[in-house]
Amino acid sequence: MAQAQKITPRAKDFSEWYGDVIAQAQLADHSPVRGCMVIRPHGYRMWELMQRALDDMIRASGHKNAYFPLFIPMSFLAKEAEHVEGFAKEVALVTHTRLRATGKQGKDAIAVDPSSALEEPLVVRPTSETIIYAMFAKWIQSYRDLPLLLNQWANVVRWELRTRLFLRTTEFLWQEGHTAHADEAGAEQEARLILGIYRRFAEEWMAMPVITGVKTDSEKFAGALRTYAIEALMQDNKGLQAGTSHNLGQNFAKAFEVRYQTAAGGLEFVWNTSWGVTTRLIGGLIMTHADDNGLVAPPRLAPVQVVIVPIWKTDDERNQLSVVGNQIKADLDKAGVRVEFDVRENLKPGAKYFEWEGFGVPVRLEIGPRDLASGQVVLARRTGGKAPVPLPSAVGAVTAALDEIQAALFAAARERREQNSIRGATKAQFLEFIKGSGGGGFAYGGFCGNPTCEAEIKQHTNATIRVLPDPEFRSKEAPKTCMWCGAPSIAEAVWAQAY
Ligand SMILES: [Zn+2]
Repeated sequence: MAQAQKITPRAKDFSEWYGDVIAQAQLADHSPVRGCMVIRPHGYRMWELMQRALDDMIRASGHKNAYFPLFIPMSFLAKEAEHVEGFAKEVALVTHTRLRATGKQGKDAIAVDPSSALEEPLVVRPTSETIIYAMFAKWIQSYRDLPLLLNQWANVVRWELRTRLFLRTTEFLWQEGHTAHADEAGAEQEARLILGIYRRFAEEWMAMPVITGVKTDSEKFAGALRTYAIEALMQDNKGLQAGTSHNLGQNFAKAFEVRYQTAAGGLEFVWNTSWGVTTRLIGGLIMTHADDNGLVAPPRLAPVQVVIVPIWKTDDERNQLSVVGNQIKADLDKAGVRVEFDVRENLKPGAKYFEWEGFGVPVRLEIGPRDLASGQVVLARRTGGKAPVPLPSAVGAVTAALDEIQAALFAAARERREQNSIRGATKAQFLEFIKGSGGGGFAYGGFCGNPTCEAEIKQHTNATIRVLPDPEFRSKEAPKTCMWCGAPSIAEAVWAQAY
């Protein structure tokens, strides 16, 4: 049973607040292994709902799911130079396969059996490009085998030093798509298609508005030609990279000899893409919508969308309410709504409200003897507002409320993002904005394209270019000069401090 613990207000300590919300909603917990996370049933259910929605979208666009091994031969990682540099510092290695009993006591009772050393150590996958493209080389012979469109749902391990539940953990869950195409246009179209799917998922399911665009060279994926990303703004005005889609060019195809015979009979390297979103999305959802009372789950991803709480004094009242409550639950079940009827006897209604609020349940139906007498139920929204609803129209009122809440959460988050964005900022304005008491936000400004300039900004302000935004998000007037150095601008950039 959850203890009625107090949640630190956002304004006091955002990071504490974040941890409190997760604890209160029982989403995840720290594990005995440092940096690793245990996803609790409520959090895992949310991941399953995300997975289902996104998997439908991925498969509807022609991709098929497969599964590749957790272990990758160490030499594979060395085949693509940029890739190995990007991941070498955070890999877990398997070097032995046996332990042996020593005859000693306590923690010395077992030791590594030196005779079990692997000839070649295995890397626990930090991402699967290398092993997947090694297989692609086997499966792709001719242009008829293209495009090859695969996805896998898996766990990966990156040995992170500083971790935080959902946002950055040593092991995390994700999907990783890997595709091969006959030409550059095919790969580029694919990378863009997926970026669109990620955006649609973030906005329509998570109610989390994102901006889309391309990463600068210093922020792109190790080994990619181009990296596209969706970026969201959290309530503390820090950016969150929520998903990435890479056009890998022919880098991996060349490293792993993935070639195909063209229609004309020539031999060409394929063009690859890879793309992924992770359990980090749950962190993004929390930091977009939750409040000082706990989690606020967007209805489409809420493990429980509606909770019915009966209020009784006598056994007679309880029995009556039980009949009506079960009927409402059955009707909502039938309408496809995820509903709980909270008949626990050892808990007062107020304590139940508190608990379900912490879980982020979007709608609560309260029903007492007086409501029963007047043929109504009280519909309370997690985001505020309470009104009686006639019993016969309860299902319609609930589904309408869920739709409204979903839309309102998205609108509110987008408005917050826009209120915390500045455009056409000068260097002075940018410095004020990014270091100000509001904690920054998205700063749009001109960029000269020089990585030195980018590095200098990062060093001074800890802000990075989140993306060079797509046309839809760009300012009406294109900036003429670099916000930082004053040289001619080659593109508008969005800067923010980020997770
Ligand atoms: Zn510059």
